[in-house]
Amino acid sequence: MAKLKTRLVTWDDVVSWSRGLAGKIRESSYRPDVVVAVARGGFVPARLICDFLLIDNLLSIQSQHWTEAAKAEDRAVIKFPYKIDLSGRKVLLVDDIVDTGESLALARNYIYNNWSAEEVRIAVLQWISPVAKFKPDYYFMEVKEWVWFQYPWTRLEDTYQLLKRLLKEEGKYKKEWSFEDLVNKFLEWYEIDVGKEYFKEAVDVLVRKGILKPEGGKYIVNFTGE
Ligand code: AMP
Repeated sequence: MAKLKTRLVTWDDVVSWSRGLAGKIRESSYRPDVVVAVARGGFVPARLICDFLLIDNLLSIQSQHWTEAAKAEDRAVIKFPYKIDLSGRKVLLVDDIVDTGESLALARNYIYNNWSAEEVRIAVLQWISPVAKFKPDYYFMEVKEWVWFQYPWTRLEDTYQLLKRLLKEEGKYKKEWSFEDLVNKFLEWYEIDVGKEYFKEAVDVLVRKGILKPEGGKYIVNFTGE
C-alpha cells in the first residue's frame, strides 16, 4: 500500500483534459472576456484554455495555500495584491484543482472586490468533491477519493519534497543509500515513476541542501541543522 495516494499526470493528460474543459465552457453560454490564471498551478491549463477558446486576454493572480506537496498551510493568501479595472468584463478564473478550494475562493473574492469584474466563473481540471468547500462552475474531472495529482509542472518540486519526506522517516533506520535504493523506496512509498532524469535532479537538490552527502558512490542521510 502506498504511503500517499498519488497519481502521475502526463503532459498529454493535461492537453486532453484542458481540451475537454474548454469544450464544457464552450457548450455553456458563458463567453469570458478575460482568463485569469491562478499562480502557479493554473498557468498551463489557463494558457491551453485560451488557445482552445481563442481568448487573447490572459492575466494572473497568485493565491497560495499549499507550499509543499500534500501539505496545506492554514489559510490562503494573495501574494502580490494589485488593482486593475475589469468592470463590465466576464472573467474565467482557471486553476489545476479544487482541493479545499481555499485559494480559489480567496482569488474569486479578491477579483470581485478589487478588480470590479462583472462576473467570475471558475474552471479547473480536477474537483475533489468530498473535501472542496464549493463546486466549481466548470471542471473536467470529479475526484471522489482524495489523491495527490503529480502534475508535470511540479515534477521536480514534488519529487524532491516527497523524497525528503521519505528519508526523514526511513533515514532513522538506514543511513546509507544507493541511487537505486532511493528510487526503489520512492516507488514503494508513492507508486509513481517520475523517470530517471527527475530522480537524479531530486537527489541533486537534496545533495545541494546538505540532506544527502555523497560518499563512495552512496548517499549518507543527514538531517542535522534542518
Ligand atoms: P486548495 O486551495 O486546497 O484548493 O489548493 C491550492 C493549490 O494547491 C491547488 O491549486 C494545487 O496547485 C495544489 N494542490 C492542492 N491539492 C492538490 C492535490 N490533491 N493534488 C495536486 N495539487 C494540489
